[in-house]
Amino acid sequence: MLKVENLHVSVDNKKILDGVNLEVLPGEFHVIMGPNGSGKSTLALTIAGHPRYSVDEGRITFNGEDITELGPDERAKRGIMLAFQHPHEVEGVKIIEFLQQVLAELKGLDPVEAYDLIVEKAKELWFSEDDLHRYVNVGFSGGERKRLELLQAILIEPKLLILDEPDSGVDVDSLSVISRKIEELHRKGTAVLLITHYGRILGHLDPSRFRVHVMREGRIVLERGGEFVREIEEKGFQKIFEECGCDE
Ligand code: ADP
Ligand code: MG
Ligand code: MG
Repeated sequence: MLKVENLHVSVDNKKILDGVNLEVLPGEFHVIMGPNGSGKSTLALTIAGHPRYSVDEGRITFNGEDITELGPDERAKRGIMLAFQHPHEVEGVKIIEFLQQVLAELKGLDPVEAYDLIVEKAKELWFSEDDLHRYVNVGFSGGERKRLELLQAILIEPKLLILDEPDSGVDVDSLSVISRKIEELHRKGTAVLLITHYGRILGHLDPSRFRVHVMREGRIVLERGGEFVREIEEKGFQKIFEECGCDE
């Protein structure tokens, strides 16, 4: 479904990705790990079509179509959603209106239909109907921002959901609801590309159900089965890179 081939990306003329290859089949679950600054967010933003990231070489295809040059809205229409590492505040735009607009654009729902669905799903992510009349992320805690990203995902049910550190800045209670919702989406058929530093977000997901890719300096240098997450947590990246000879 998603195929990233020999991807070289730069931001503001600084080369960041240096030949990334990655393939995600429908309904698969892939985890991306790596030290800070290794290029994980850059990869996520590039797949989502962020205009600041320019592809210097290589390509991205989605269901056989070359999407390397498509804008973010066009990619969203094709079923790609990115949940941001740092979701932004949008002053003056209410959550409910924003979500109604998203559901109109991506699922053709009218605002009245959308309203009831949004309120119902919001409760599962601990947002009351009143909360939905607040401005998007304005004054929100880290956990609330991440839960709002998940609410969007649950409503959209994308074909491919990319989550950039959905567990960062989140307390344990939010972590467990976020983890459950990711697994729920996955069970319903959404392919997941999850960037994280911690195995905990994977909750009760059977390690045989996902693959782990480890990034270092703009490349994926290792790919392993799900059990590898624990090994990374125990040893740390430096040791892992020494052992595989990936550190030169
Ligand atoms: P990660 O998500 O793995 O921590 P990032 O993709 O955010 O890594 O960043 C990879 C590298 O690119 C880092 O060295 C970072 O400083 C650099 N970088 C990211 N965004 C920019 C930017 N807008 N301008 C210059 N350098 C950037
Ligand atoms: Mg980082
Ligand atoms: Mg990042």
